[in-house]
Amino acid sequence: MSTVLIRGGTLITDRHTYGADIFVEDERIHDIAPHIPPETADRVIDAAGMLVMPGGIDVHTHLDMPFGGTTSSDDFETGTRAAAFGGTTTIVDFAIQAKGTKMRDALDTWWKKAEGKACIDYGLHMIVTDLGTSGLEDMDDMVSEGVASFKLFMAYPNVLMVDDATIFKALGQTAKNGALVCMHAENGGVIDTIVQRALAEGKTAPVYHALTRPTRAEAEAVHRSIALAEMAGAPVYIVHLSSEDALNQVREARDRGLPAFAETCPQYLLLSIEELERPDFEGAKYVFTPPLREKRNLPKLWDGLRHDHLQVVSTDHCPFCFADQKHLGKDDFTKIPNGGPGIENRLQLIHHHGVNAGKISLNRFVELVSATPARLFGMYPRKGALEVGSDADIVVWDPNALHTISAASHHMRVDYSMFEGFEVRGNARQVLSRGEVIVEDGRFHGRAGRGNYLRRQARGGAWN
Ligand SMILES: [Zn+2]
Repeated sequence: MSTVLIRGGTLITDRHTYGADIFVEDERIHDIAPHIPPETADRVIDAAGMLVMPGGIDVHTHLDMPFGGTTSSDDFETGTRAAAFGGTTTIVDFAIQAKGTKMRDALDTWWKKAEGKACIDYGLHMIVTDLGTSGLEDMDDMVSEGVASFKLFMAYPNVLMVDDATIFKALGQTAKNGALVCMHAENGGVIDTIVQRALAEGKTAPVYHALTRPTRAEAEAVHRSIALAEMAGAPVYIVHLSSEDALNQVREARDRGLPAFAETCPQYLLLSIEELERPDFEGAKYVFTPPLREKRNLPKLWDGLRHDHLQVVSTDHCPFCFADQKHLGKDDFTKIPNGGPGIENRLQLIHHHGVNAGKISLNRFVELVSATPARLFGMYPRKGALEVGSDADIVVWDPNALHTISAASHHMRVDYSMFEGFEVRGNARQVLSRGEVIVEDGRFHGRAGRGNYLRRQARGGAWN
């Protein structure tokens, strides 16, 4: 195993900023010290003027995921490679239990999707669609396989939605086994009714995807999720929170001392509902769930990040090509595959629009994109930290590198970018995954299949 010395950089963790060298050996951080002699290492990376951070962790991705008769366009190879280009070295994707089957079947299916393909380490959450057939022991079985988190849907009736009793039972089981429940919080029954009404009135354009999903439907479900978790005596994590209305529910719960957590995504922080009104069906590029909201929500979400009402920024990366996949919904917005690409650009966007804009500190940035996701999802301090013994998942970040985001140059396998033309200052220069330099100066040096499945610990940070 070769050794790497990262020399002369400024280390940024969620808690500290300091100058030090990092010595990497056997896939791990072996030493952190002010001056480590360069002749001790096989490879020296000069990080003068650079920021050295733990690799990004994206706990919400959907690679190779079937949806609405098609499949998300990035698989575990193209998706994790794109992630690496943007400084993300770990993802947690979602396996989906098919109704009437064991969760283990889904786990096997998703392991096969990732095998031989993943370029960075990956964990899996389990989407629970049915507790009737397999029972609650199935959840314990998953925890023993390192699936330390579950996701349940309050939206998408007849597809993924489960009732309150199922959610409550699942939460109750995590109170025993220490896993974390993630909630897609939108009132699916109400939304479906509004959607049917819109279609009956001939409202079929992409923008109706947003207009049929009110923020109250999100806020109500967030409130209900937290109430169910409180009754079950378990923490809860709200995925892709999109609106001030919903944020207020999380803040209120946290003010009461409840272990309620929430993530948001770059699209909700930087884009608004106007995108769905783009001509020539281009609004479909921005159809995902929850939808983009009115502009006034954006500063509220940034405030939420600053004041820790929101704890994580993930992407909900779920790409569908505009040309042949988004067009499935040309005449009916409900047939547009829900999802957008973003796995590559999360760090660039949050660094630029958060840190450069003075909204959050560098330490808070690392906390949001790496340390807290690692803690909440049972990977810390193996991931999300720069500590002796941690996996050497490290980003050497050039805070002054200028980059223009574009489908023409990105590495995601999708024919558009939600952030086309966005100019950012700050980008990954070298990306190390378990000590191996897999991205350097815009070139990929890793290989498909080198990423390992991560067995995550139960009773992670949400429990203390
Ligand atoms: Zn999602």
